[in-house]
Amino acid sequence: MNKINSLESKVRSYCRAYPVMFTKAKNSHLIDKDGKKYLDFLCGAGSLNYGHNNPDLKNKVIDYLNQDGIIHSLDLATESKEEFLDSFSKNILSPRNLDYKIQFTGPTGTNAVEAALKIARKVTGRTKIISFTNGFHGVTLGSVAATGNKHHRGGAGISLNDVMFMPFDGYMGKKLDTIDYLRRLLEDNSSGIDLPAAVILETVQGEGGINIASSKWLQSLQELCREFGILIIVDDIQVGCGRTGTFFSFEGMGITPDLVVLSKSLSGFGLPFSLLLLKPELDKWKPGEHNGTFRGNNLAFVTAKTAIEQYWTTDELEKQIILNSKILQTRLEEISKEFPSSDIQVRGKGMIYGIDCILGDFASEIRQKCFENGLILETCGADDQVVKLLPPLNIYEDDLMLGLDILETSIKQVISESDFDKLLEAEVIQK
Ligand code: PLP
Repeated sequence: MNKINSLESKVRSYCRAYPVMFTKAKNSHLIDKDGKKYLDFLCGAGSLNYGHNNPDLKNKVIDYLNQDGIIHSLDLATESKEEFLDSFSKNILSPRNLDYKIQFTGPTGTNAVEAALKIARKVTGRTKIISFTNGFHGVTLGSVAATGNKHHRGGAGISLNDVMFMPFDGYMGKKLDTIDYLRRLLEDNSSGIDLPAAVILETVQGEGGINIASSKWLQSLQELCREFGILIIVDDIQVGCGRTGTFFSFEGMGITPDLVVLSKSLSGFGLPFSLLLLKPELDKWKPGEHNGTFRGNNLAFVTAKTAIEQYWTTDELEKQIILNSKILQTRLEEISKEFPSSDIQVRGKGMIYGIDCILGDFASEIRQKCFENGLILETCGADDQVVKLLPPLNIYEDDLMLGLDILETSIKQVISESDFDKLLEAEVIQK
């Protein structure tokens, strides 16, 4: 750790919250240098939906390397690329009646978001984008302009332009339909709001605090966008690839986005890999216009294809997510009763859940106590006040239960050891 602390930039973050040296990982566990096992409910911030070192994916990697398979290829034609495209089209897009062109972007999620924003602006000839309160879309300049969080925006160093923020579903409380508000602004020639190229949104805001858009809200948004010729970009980087229970988070919600961004768990193995799905008529790029050296991660093509065929050609995983989701919901509701305030909220869907602890310090104490007790999880939300759970989708039930037991014990310890109940009371009264 000393070398890391002295040599690595101050920008490092997760290693500050979990200050041990990790040496191994398997399924739902991370193991440190002293052999201590931690249940991993952080999951590479959603990049390890099928667990660490998933054996089926690992064996494919080993075979591919042993055969001297191509690793780097820019965007040259390779067999692994063609096989991935064929499998993605056959097993993911076709069964869902989705017609998209597939663009390989740079390997990070934010690069795929950049591509989505660029093509939306290019195709419509408009510059503005509408993003939503608490949205998180990455930290490169185009994406961070569409990200609400002050901390991330503050790192940009230049003014962040051409994005207008509108209230997400529920942001103004239950009584105000935020799409009505948006409609009013778009309809009014004097609202000061320019017609945007696109809206960008997460159907469940992962970094922003596990805020869930209802299907009604999404459908109203789609109706409004169609009426005004505004494109819809769904950022499924964190909650796609099965996290909410279906491969795409918008499935069954009654919308068909014009553009979809995927990354994180797409490779299935934690390898960097992102893509942008575009309705064919939007594919107006000139060759190489959004290029990048690392657009053809062939090892990721191999693991992504294997993951699709292993998990998304039957409904087994989806059924497992439904069961695990029920366990999460029920246990977290019970656990939330331990808190000294009834304002504590449990929010979630599929296998992304959060407990909104109201106070960031409280959530951070809980995260710390969980870590000491052998459970790794992160916090999210505007004030990092939400304890967030992202267990692997294929976690063994015993491990899921154990993780929830650790969370419960840790919460009880934090409550008994601190004055948070008083602080919480004061905060709730203030609000
Ligand atoms: N969009 C969403 C919804 C995310 O959750 C993230 C990362 O957490 C990103 C974009 C950015 O992805 P990356 O960190 O790979 O650039």
